[in-house]
Amino acid sequence: SAFEDLGLKQQIIEGLLALNFKKPSKIQERALPLMLADPPRNMIAQSQSGTGKTAAFVVTILSRVDFEQPHTPQALALAPSRELARQIQGVIQSIGQFCTNLNVEAAIPGSISRETGVRANVVVGTPGTVMDLIRRKQFDVSNLKVLVIDEADNMLDQQGLGEQCVRVKNMLPKSIQTLLFSATFPDNVMKYAERFAPNANQMRL
Ligand code: AMP
Repeated sequence: SAFEDLGLKQQIIEGLLALNFKKPSKIQERALPLMLADPPRNMIAQSQSGTGKTAAFVVTILSRVDFEQPHTPQALALAPSRELARQIQGVIQSIGQFCTNLNVEAAIPGSISRETGVRANVVVGTPGTVMDLIRRKQFDVSNLKVLVIDEADNMLDQQGLGEQCVRVKNMLPKSIQTLLFSATFPDNVMKYAERFAPNANQMRL
């Protein structure tokens, strides 16, 4: 199987090849057709780190963004730490290096200008900062198509972060496609996950 068979935009395939990703990993091969299907369905995916889960959700994000709208936020990824948010931003920029008009901003403390607010089509952030930006009307969420929660076990379990994720989610369009990725889904986390991403396709690797 090849990335070409998944029907990805040519610029995304070029980005993957530039990183020397020659064929999809198992999670990519199984999850991408489900995540890219229309109408969009939610996804709860369990996969160890090192299996290519970041690229799986990054390809989904890049596939859902209309690059003719360079400053309209269309995809949001949430991570538990600034470091992970920056890392995901880097992966989006590398796989998306041939996507003209891709703009990725990190919504982490101190990174978004108070004057201009968010002016990117893809946003990666930590839940507290994202919540503040939305409340201050510095982040227009009305055109978001996809929400990714990375390390969902940490995000939905921890009291503070979990509450912030739910608050953010409640401010987003009701029909947003929600993708939860985690190395583990203990029973208590799965309970939150199923409420957070209703009727999701579920996948365990
Ligand atoms: P992750 O599971 O997201 O932590 O990714 C693990 C590593 O696999 C990263 O260093 C990626 O650059 C790499 N990787 C992801 N997808 C592929 C692929 N299809 N082919 C080769 N390497 C990949």
